[in-house]
Amino acid sequence: MVLEYSPMETQSIIALNTLEHGRCRPWPFLQDFCLTCGICAGACPASGVDGFDPRKLVRMISLGMEDETVSERWPWICTMCGKCANLCPMEIDIPGLVRKIRSRRRREEVPGILHKGLEAALETGNNLRLPKDDYVFILEEIAAEPGFEGFTVPIDKTGARILTTIHNKLVNTHTEDLKHWWKIFHAAGEDWTVPSENWEGTNWGYFTGDDAAIRKFWKNSVL
Ligand code: SF4
Ligand code: SF4
Repeated sequence: MVLEYSPMETQSIIALNTLEHGRCRPWPFLQDFCLTCGICAGACPASGVDGFDPRKLVRMISLGMEDETVSERWPWICTMCGKCANLCPMEIDIPGLVRKIRSRRRREEVPGILHKGLEAALETGNNLRLPKDDYVFILEEIAAEPGFEGFTVPIDKTGARILTTIHNKLVNTHTEDLKHWWKIFHAAGEDWTVPSENWEGTNWGYFTGDDAAIRKFWKNSVL
């Protein structure tokens, strides 16, 4: 009888019996199964930017070049879109790999805009450091625009069924997009609210590979 294993099962068999254990445990993304087929590189929207190539990144980890990848710019070029992982015939989790590499970068060496945005969100509740009064004023202005009569934004509504957070871009420049889903909630008679503090919906802890920040960010929003 021929036994069939899923890639994950096969990985654990190899990790236990064949490969260097120390390397497979902290990097459990199936990287050692890479066929170097290049499908990921062909699909990747960031491929070629400053020479970035997801296939090469996978190979670097597979060859034990962890330190080199951590200090590289490449992991920060990846958009984490996941297209590569969807197409990879070996189901290698490249976005997961990238995120792991990012988590190993010293926090003060995380690229500026991400590091500063995350710090701002943890300190002020949003990546822009937008003061609460300005934020509330903007929401009320959006709701008061013509074509949206009789509507008010339910800010800090106690006991609401749905709590929504907001991408800072929607408050800053893309306010039309906010109105679209507000209208849907309104028409559907939903019981929803937006917080007046810690309203940021973009958790840059994810993009910086900072799990502690992700948790803090999330707790600030919901507790
Ligand atoms: S698609 Fe998968 S198997 Fe092919 S090169 Fe990329 S990581 Fe390796
Ligand atoms: S997750 Fe990163 S490496 Fe994969 S396709 Fe998207 S940008 Fe490219």
